[in-house]
Amino acid sequence: MTRPEPALSVVVPMFDEVSVLPLLARRLRAVLDGLGEAYEVVAVDDGSTDGTGAGLAALRAGWPQLRVLRLRRNSGHQAALVAGVLRARGRYVVSIDADLQDPPETIVEMLRLARADDLDIVYGVRADRRTDSAFKRWTAAGYYRLMRRLVGKQVPAQAGDFRLLSRAAVEALRELPERSPVLRLVVPWLGFPSGEVSYQRDERAAGRTKYPLSRMAGLAAESVTSFSAAPLRFATWLGLAGVAVCGVLVVVAVLAWLAGSTVSGWPSLYVAVLFLGAVQLLCLGLLGEYVARIYTAVQGRPAYFVAADSADSADSPDGPDGPDSPAAGVDAAAGPAGAGELADSLR
Ligand code: UDP
Ligand code: MG
Repeated sequence: MTRPEPALSVVVPMFDEVSVLPLLARRLRAVLDGLGEAYEVVAVDDGSTDGTGAGLAALRAGWPQLRVLRLRRNSGHQAALVAGVLRARGRYVVSIDADLQDPPETIVEMLRLARADDLDIVYGVRADRRTDSAFKRWTAAGYYRLMRRLVGKQVPAQAGDFRLLSRAAVEALRELPERSPVLRLVVPWLGFPSGEVSYQRDERAAGRTKYPLSRMAGLAAESVTSFSAAPLRFATWLGLAGVAVCGVLVVVAVLAWLAGSTVSGWPSLYVAVLFLGAVQLLCLGLLGEYVARIYTAVQGRPAYFVAADSADSADSPDGPDGPDSPAAGVDAAAGPAGAGELADSLR
């Protein structure tokens, strides 16, 4: 690669965030220009349909460090993050939400800590969640407790996707075979030297959340099944318990029969059949979860498609900078079609 790598890349996944764009640009730019070092901002447009793409193109005109990575369709927050992080070129890579809930000013502190202590990972840890609803606080606390049990103590509580990664950590993530890793879990799993910076999580500056309950539940299910076979074991234990209970019922029934008492019979049978049916269904469902994961892994479909990367042709005399990770996504714009796609994205 002939282009000098910037000291810092800031990856911002965004989906329909046109209303927050001007605020974000103003605050983020003030912070990054103040660093006095070369940087790039990788805005990942995750298939927005509200004019975010046009907004970014307009911003790019006056902000040369802004790089726009447009995904061809909405692929979800995690996939957008992975796309941006794996393509970022900086020696350090920070990921941050577009809605200014994570204060850009904290980036400076993360960078200083990483350099001072030679850390590969710096987590942004929420000092409190006053701005979140009680329900969100409660579900988040449960989620983090579960993750610490499954992945290990190195999962910091209350750390979302606002974090700094060193180049070494990014390259390690690239080595992972998963196509859509849950970064909150695989980053702690790396176990690299890490630190924490606490920050106050603000209200969303504009627009509305893209994380309804269904998506949170999806992330939790994906997190559990991608890191642990514990639920499968739970099914086994439940199955065993079911068998034990039924064994007792059988003994009771036999004893009652021996004692000659009239056993009406059907309620116990009814209970046993229902219970066994429930246990079997539950186990089947859990098995299905894993079979589904194996199925998608075997299919090996990419988690996202890159439509255009403004860095590929705009400011590089030698074209795209090499092949992307095979584990990541697919460059739909690779090859001669790239320039056309780019022009398309800037329009
Ligand atoms: N986001 C994304 N793709 C999606 C959903 C969300 O890139 O499909 C981005 C979104 O634009 C924001 C970040 O992910 O920058 C976090 O989303 P949001 O603020 O809606 O989640 P919350 O903070 O409410 O959990
Ligand atoms: Mg948010």
